Amino acid sequence: MKDLMSKIISLAKRRGFIFQSSEIYGGIRGFYDFGPLGVELKNNIKKAWWENIVWQRKEIVGLDSSIIMNPKVWKASGHIDTFADPLAECKKCHKRFRADHLVEDFKDSAKLDEHGEFTKEELEDIAKAIEKIKCPECGGELMPPRQFNLMFKTFIGPVEEKGATAYLRPETAQGIFVNYKNIVDTQRSKVPFGIAQIGKAFRNEITPRNFIFRTREFEQMELEYFVKPENDQKFFKTWVKERMNWYVKDLGLDPKKLRIRPHEKDELSHYSKSCVDIEYQFPFGWGELEGIANRTDFDLKQHQKFSGADLRYFDEKTKKYYLPYVIEPSCGVDRILLALLCDAYQEVEGGRTKTTKSVKEVEILLKLNKKIAPIKVTILPLVKNKPKLVKKAKEIYDLLKSHFNCQYDEVGSIGRRYRRSDEVGVVFAVTCDFETLEQNDVTVRDRDTMEQERIKVENLVELLKQKLEK
Ligand code: ATP
Repeated sequence: MKDLMSKIISLAKRRGFIFQSSEIYGGIRGFYDFGPLGVELKNNIKKAWWENIVWQRKEIVGLDSSIIMNPKVWKASGHIDTFADPLAECKKCHKRFRADHLVEDFKDSAKLDEHGEFTKEELEDIAKAIEKIKCPECGGELMPPRQFNLMFKTFIGPVEEKGATAYLRPETAQGIFVNYKNIVDTQRSKVPFGIAQIGKAFRNEITPRNFIFRTREFEQMELEYFVKPENDQKFFKTWVKERMNWYVKDLGLDPKKLRIRPHEKDELSHYSKSCVDIEYQFPFGWGELEGIANRTDFDLKQHQKFSGADLRYFDEKTKKYYLPYVIEPSCGVDRILLALLCDAYQEVEGGRTKTTKSVKEVEILLKLNKKIAPIKVTILPLVKNKPKLVKKAKEIYDLLKSHFNCQYDEVGSIGRRYRRSDEVGVVFAVTCDFETLEQNDVTVRDRDTMEQERIKVENLVELLKQKLEK
């Protein structure tokens, strides 16, 4: 299964979904760039989330807050003091590792035989467990783990002094909490209501890994849903269901590869009362796509305390003030994108489409959900050396491009071009042939069924729209 990851990484690079950041300079660990197809895919994921969360729910509004905020925000939220991971460094080669990941890896691996089983006590105390583990790179001894804060620091203004320190946000959520009062005052929001935000987040991860699964710059889609304290668990459960539905129904992920994993008591973050992860079965194992947490009134309470602003909500009915509790579904665009690629990737032995012998016999098919697919339609003139045909195909491209993200492709045999478009999940191929010039109709090929239909050009937009909605 590891093999599947390298195939996906190679396809992502070869076809322009994802590149290593600053590649010509040797790259930079934990950062990636999204190419022409990657950016479309990302935008479609974000749009699907925004439509589901903001547009379809009258009590939820959107926000776009700044990445750098007053550093007091991070003091209040607890990130300056507690947003850290345990880091273990090798005494010999000085490579650094995330200590809890090392313990997890060793727990699951055959290497355990050399070290003996971990006791329950060791598993609860990472420092103890680490004593049994040698450096995975050079076999050297590891130093006792120390806490490493994950926030990236920068300086505001011309002088790099302590007082000018600021942080790149490690989550978008705090931008929502500090705007909570602005939203309530300007939108006349009534509990229960939500504020949603999509944006970049930065974490100086000790060991970025698994391609875009764990990076140092990524994008989050977060909702903070404010409820009456006594209704917290009811809404928590509702949101777990809603979010799971979104992955299956809106994104079309395979439900067999999704699971809900409740957090153990000792796993809960400092602010949350209950938390579950929605996980996807990646080729490298189960990994979190989304965390859904009951953050209680922790954040509003802290910001009220640190800022001095009154953040209480006034209940018109009971005439009482209170701090709402918060249910937070928080997911990562990059991880969802990776899950979609893994889920959609198929290889068809012998190929589905006849081509000349020179073409490899395994055909890649990226069966992405129609709504999420980066390119919806490819327009193909049957041959490229007939000017009338090429002109007609370009006219059809012009007709379709204001409705769908399209591409025009005239290079190579028609079979090769079908393969090329299947490989990146293009949903429909529209071919113009000699009959098109006479009858004004085209062949529409469906990526998944490979069925071909003859459609009049004047009906093309409507028909493709209908098919994409299905
Ligand atoms: P993990 O345990 O995997 O480090 P987390 O529990 O710290 O993740 P949250 O703080 O709950 O993650 O962040 C919400 C979401 O943001 C995650 O579910 C994930 O989709 C995304 N995310 C978090 N860290 C990263 C990262 N380093 N790279 C990519 N996406 C991330």
